[in-house]
Amino acid sequence: MTETTRTLPLVMAAPRGRAKPPRHLADLSAEERVAAAKEMGEPPFRVKQVAHHYFARLERDPAAMTDLPARNRDAIAGALLPELLTPVRVQEADQGTTRKTLWRLFDGALVESVLMRYSERATICVSSQAGCGMACPFCATGQGGLQRNMSTAEIVDQVVDGAAAMARGEVAGGPGRLSNVVFMGMGEPLANYKAVVGAVRRMTSPAPDGLGMSARNITVSTVGLVPRIRQLTEEGIPITLALSLHAPDDELRDELVPINTRFDVAETVEAAWQYAKKTKRRVSIEYAMMRDINDQAWRADLLGDVLNSYGDWGWVHVNLIPLNEVPGSRFTRSRDADTDEFVRRLQAKGISTTVRDTRGDEIDAACGQLAAQE
Ligand code: SAH
Repeated sequence: MTETTRTLPLVMAAPRGRAKPPRHLADLSAEERVAAAKEMGEPPFRVKQVAHHYFARLERDPAAMTDLPARNRDAIAGALLPELLTPVRVQEADQGTTRKTLWRLFDGALVESVLMRYSERATICVSSQAGCGMACPFCATGQGGLQRNMSTAEIVDQVVDGAAAMARGEVAGGPGRLSNVVFMGMGEPLANYKAVVGAVRRMTSPAPDGLGMSARNITVSTVGLVPRIRQLTEEGIPITLALSLHAPDDELRDELVPINTRFDVAETVEAAWQYAKKTKRRVSIEYAMMRDINDQAWRADLLGDVLNSYGDWGWVHVNLIPLNEVPGSRFTRSRDADTDEFVRRLQAKGISTTVRDTRGDEIDAACGQLAAQE
């Protein structure tokens, strides 16, 4: 890949005039489930049976759904659970505890998800768009532009696949439970707001309507689409919000996160603070450490002051991400000494700060490396 300085249009809506992904159980509201049963000439509880298999048992093979009438098992399951994601390639790293899957969608679009198992939790990093329109110059996904929004079910199905892999013991460490979801794969989740919130609702609804996960264990990461952050604040779901800040000053952030020219640092951090205030959830500030770009000690001080200007009641946590170097990019990873000093200065201002571990580095599965080249 060569270095690109393209100025992409900041496309906020899905491109028009394309076929939609097939309708799937995970896309349906309660009323739509009843209608779907009717369409198939089946009683409403059939849909509930299939939902139990999919969300509670993580089972999608019709042959295993022995409580469905044998004669139309395939038809019922096929209508409600069309294949949305076809695995193209699976790569493992970190002794089999990190697993990246490249998926082909119904229309040929490619996306990736990454499953990471830790001692006390297992997290899946999911994609919410094929490509991304935000054009952050240090991010691999940002270099290819946006192809399209993903549907609710396309997002949920990545999570169901990860949960099934954990349950079946396919990930090193034996059978376990998928506990966390982060929207840090490909795409800008808040630019696909409706499908993302729908997916969060499917993940948090108790079975058989959903996966019964805790909203607190779901993190939505955003470049800072301020009106959408405000909308999410009113949504009343206690998910964790992560804001990709990467710079405390507009001059630099305009360059690193181009949407900053529309919503500046002050407005963006203010929206994040309102989110924390309303939901009582601590906001996570993402800051990818780029050598001699945004990692100066004075910027750490400025970041601390900007965040503290909204209150020092622990509303925020700073997550420093060692930059994952994208081939051909002019952005490189900060020196360890500079990262240590950055941490020290933020902590000196009373701000909770950690440095993220770099899982999946060698299979290009780390943050910002997902590009789905094939
Ligand atoms: N669009 C969302 C999700 C993107 S990926 C967002 O911007 O928040 C999740 C995080 O990885 C974001 O903070 C993103 O800025 C960061 N990231 C992107 N490229 C990176 C890279 N090369 N190294 C480290 N982090 C990167």
